[in-house]
Amino acid sequence: MEPIRMVDLQRQYAHIKDRVDAAVIRCMDEANFINGPEVKKFAINLQNYLSVKKVITCANGTDALQIAFMALDLEPGSEVIVPSFTYVATAEVICLLGLTPVMVDVDPHTFNLTADLIEQAITEKTRAVVPVHLFGQCVDMDAIMALARKHNIYVIEDTAQAIGAEYSGCEYNGKAGTIGDIGCTSFFPSKNLGCFGDGGAVYTNNEELAAKLSMIANHGQERKYVHKYIGINSRLDTLQAAILDIKLEHLDEYCEKRRHAADFYDNAFRNVPGLVIPARNPRSTHVFHQYTLKVPAERRQALQDYLQDKGIPSMIYYPLPLNEQEAFKGKSRIAGELNVTKELCESVLSLPMHTELSQEQLEHIQQSVIEFFQGN
Ligand SMILES: *Cc1c(COP(=O)(O)O)cnc(C)c1O
Repeated sequence: MEPIRMVDLQRQYAHIKDRVDAAVIRCMDEANFINGPEVKKFAINLQNYLSVKKVITCANGTDALQIAFMALDLEPGSEVIVPSFTYVATAEVICLLGLTPVMVDVDPHTFNLTADLIEQAITEKTRAVVPVHLFGQCVDMDAIMALARKHNIYVIEDTAQAIGAEYSGCEYNGKAGTIGDIGCTSFFPSKNLGCFGDGGAVYTNNEELAAKLSMIANHGQERKYVHKYIGINSRLDTLQAAILDIKLEHLDEYCEKRRHAADFYDNAFRNVPGLVIPARNPRSTHVFHQYTLKVPAERRQALQDYLQDKGIPSMIYYPLPLNEQEAFKGKSRIAGELNVTKELCESVLSLPMHTELSQEQLEHIQQSVIEFFQGN
């Protein structure tokens, strides 16, 4: 059996090596390393894939969030609601821009924000909310959009983990990141659409915002040497765009392979006492950036050790919530008790999840997990 990895980028690359290598060599021959034609081509192909008016590529997912918030031009001290159970980047840029992240709890089943949790945290300073489509499935956007419209606040979707997921609500439909005002994504290598380095993008259906976002990503430049806004220098490399353009053709197949592994895990673990399989939002497809179980907190470390001995890696996303991070002390507001977040940090465990998991590997993981619970 091949060694089991959390993410198997080596074997994924092997399937597309000929095309990727040829594209990389072509880019090097052409030497258009910055803003080469591949960048525009990829942005347009991604636009079509997502059915969104405008995709603006940038250097990474954290920049994508920063560019989005710079474009909103919120007054310093404005509040932005974020889930407490997410990756740090979601809230970091909010502080960098002199805004206050307001950390709220999440739903215990989907691990995502809900409109009710958001509504309890809204004050007259609230200007935006960041639904994070955590682990690969969409937040319930109908309820969040209705709430946002009612309170006149922006919706910035953090879709770094959910590219390709599809939301089908009653009023709002579309790919993750295309429903709110701005969607932000990452092409970090281990993301579902990952490049061979750093990359990111923002998307929007609002033409005015699109123009501003693309200027901000490029020094606030309106035309050469004319600067309308304070911007940043955040670009997707030509080489990365060429690689992403090839991988984009495989994205649906990659999502399907991840779902296949997730379905296997669901069936394997649904009836194991002590284990809780991840809940699925019936209004969203799930692209399984992570497959995350809830396990008894007091046995999590022993389970991880047991699996490690069997050659099975596992990870804790996330061990420490935003509201307990020193960096945010005095720079954020914590709304409510955040008991679910606390419980999740103590009990979640993510299993290997990628496009190359073989039946043999899946069965080995299944057997090992079940053995642990039977033997102990
Ligand atoms: C990965 C990630 C980001 C940041 O992306 P980078 O490309 O690493 O900057 C932001 N938010 C979430 C939820 C992520 O998982």
